[in-house]
Amino acid sequence: MNRIHRSLSRFHGAQRRFPARWIRDLAKHWDIDAAVTYRAPLADIRFALKHGTLLESALKEGFFGDISFEDVDAILVEAGRMADDVIAPLNPVGDSIGATFKDGVVTTAPGWKAAYTAWRKAGWNGLAAPAEWGGQGLPRVVNAACTEMWNSASMAFGVCTLLTMGAIDALAAHGSDELKRRYLGKLVSGEWTGTMLLTEPHAGSDVGALRTRAERVADGSYRIAGQKMFITYGEHDLTDNIIHLVLARLPDAPPGTRGISLFLVPKFMPDVAGSPGARNDVRAHSIEHKLGMHGSPTCTMILGDQGGATGFLVGDENAGMACMFTMMNHARLDVGLQGVGVAERATQLALSYARERRQGSRVGKPTTETVPIIAHPGVHRMLMTMHALTQAARAICYETAMALDVAERISGKTARQAAYARASLLTPVAKAFSTDIGVEVASLGVEVHGGVGYVEETGAAQHVRDAWLGAIYEGTNGIQAIDLVTRKAPLAGGALIGKHIDELSRIVDAVSATNEAAFGCSGARLAESVESLRRVTRWVLARLEQNTDAALAGAAQYLRLFGVATGGCYLARQALTAPRHNTETEYRTALARFFAENISVEAATLERVVVDGAASVVDTGTMFAH
Ligand SMILES: Cc1cc2nc3c(=O)[nH]c(=O)nc-3n(C[C@H](O)[C@H](O)[C@H](O)COP(=O)(O)OP(=O)(O)OC[C@H]3O[C@@H](n4cnc5c(N)ncnc54)[C@H](O)[C@@H]3O)c2cc1C
Repeated sequence: MNRIHRSLSRFHGAQRRFPARWIRDLAKHWDIDAAVTYRAPLADIRFALKHGTLLESALKEGFFGDISFEDVDAILVEAGRMADDVIAPLNPVGDSIGATFKDGVVTTAPGWKAAYTAWRKAGWNGLAAPAEWGGQGLPRVVNAACTEMWNSASMAFGVCTLLTMGAIDALAAHGSDELKRRYLGKLVSGEWTGTMLLTEPHAGSDVGALRTRAERVADGSYRIAGQKMFITYGEHDLTDNIIHLVLARLPDAPPGTRGISLFLVPKFMPDVAGSPGARNDVRAHSIEHKLGMHGSPTCTMILGDQGGATGFLVGDENAGMACMFTMMNHARLDVGLQGVGVAERATQLALSYARERRQGSRVGKPTTETVPIIAHPGVHRMLMTMHALTQAARAICYETAMALDVAERISGKTARQAAYARASLLTPVAKAFSTDIGVEVASLGVEVHGGVGYVEETGAAQHVRDAWLGAIYEGTNGIQAIDLVTRKAPLAGGALIGKHIDELSRIVDAVSATNEAAFGCSGARLAESVESLRRVTRWVLARLEQNTDAALAGAAQYLRLFGVATGGCYLARQALTAPRHNTETEYRTALARFFAENISVEAATLERVVVDGAASVVDTGTMFAH
């Protein structure tokens, strides 16, 4: 039995033993009847992996060791079962009952702990984690597909797991051997979860303003004191220990982000046997009452009330931001996948409702018989928009994950650096475009439902409430746009983004060269969007040096333009690389065409907004000053 088959039987066993029916009964018991309509979109995910990334050829060449695409397929099926049967039914339970706080103790919603335990015992937490720490070392892009499924099933559940995976990355990359030995195994198995403690009341987007203090102790550890807010799963009852990664400042640290260090602060200090021992001086003070994500506890954390929390340095002193970026880059891609996940679930729900709900008859048709609303062109358009945006965001996120895989495994410094640069260019787009479309698609989902979308029973409203968080945490989407404009687009003097745009142009040429009627005007529309991206990129890069305010005034719209141009081309590439003349390819071509003719065309407007609209933003800069 090879490692994949061992993993598969573990995935399957844990899922089979899980009392999924119990969860459904529980939802009934609490009178929660939100529609539980999520089925992992395995065909779409498989297609996106096979025709949208280089995964299949990389597997054939042995880039990932002894795994085949059939193995990946089998993993996706098991992940789909776990998402459908174990996690998805909990989503409305988490929303209506949520996490509760009493006397410093956070209790997650009913069923949450049983589901988490089943999930982690199946080994899902360590899917892409290093084998030397008990992980399975599988490709990140496969883990990305699974992450999408956990988050479609429940964003509030999925966010816990993605933070632990980010903590594993940060510790594996920057932790000392001793820290790795003590903590990595338990994090990889999911027996302990990880958190990220950055935000403070006066330090949100501006992390450099943080004030949490760290003092050196003679034994080499540190005493940490301060207050952190908005900490996801800062306290919970899912595991017997929580490993906090905390940003703090040493007394002699330089100001701003250059003076921040990263510390590992366990809730319980592990004893000699590695089990949770003495309680550390870190505790939850309260949890937030939020718009959505009620299943995910968001805590205010107090460190050092009783003399100082014991912390251990990760990486070097004052190099904490670089270490934390390892975690945040992972988390940013995963938050992008949350956007894809919630968009997928909202689309499935809207589609099933639109097939059932009958209202009105078709205008201009001889019969007055009422029809399902899906038959009305306006509703059909909304559903197509939801589906197309979701597939485009999925394509961008998987491409980003694949670039990370290449960066981590390819030999040769130059090739590795090129792959990292590619991943870092795509990461803010994967995060912000995907979470923006998450909100957009979820909102369309409410519109498709009409009045019942506005009340809670259908679950459509929950998707909008949950989706909004994706646009806010892990760096707001406004901050992602600034990152794209000021750091990523200028990489290698603009050559990296130029290469990306050239690659999109080659896809456009291939579409135009097919002369397939099924692509409609896709070639022309995609070409216009890519040329808009090229022109606006030049404009933005030039303005960065001459008039930064003008360059930043349309940063969010520029990121959207990047996403729209890239997503449209990626969908076209998927359609082109699929085998010709079969029904699946016809459907993929139709979808790519819909995107090109209805969504890529936004590029022209976005170009005007970024370029022509900048002056009116800059000129009105003092309008609200008084
Ligand atoms: C439910 C929830 C869970 C969270 N989980 C965590 C967690 O686990 N760990 C953690 O550390 N934090 C967490 N956060 C905090 C989150 O990362 C911050 O809320 C986010 O970074 C934004 O910071 P802020 O809320 O202070 O907003 P602000 O920084 O005040 O931003 C307000 C607005 O101004 C814009 N803005 C701010 N600065 C600039 C600038 N320089 N240029 C242009 N625009 C700017 C922003 O884009 C935003 O639109 C969580 C937040 C929430 C709501």
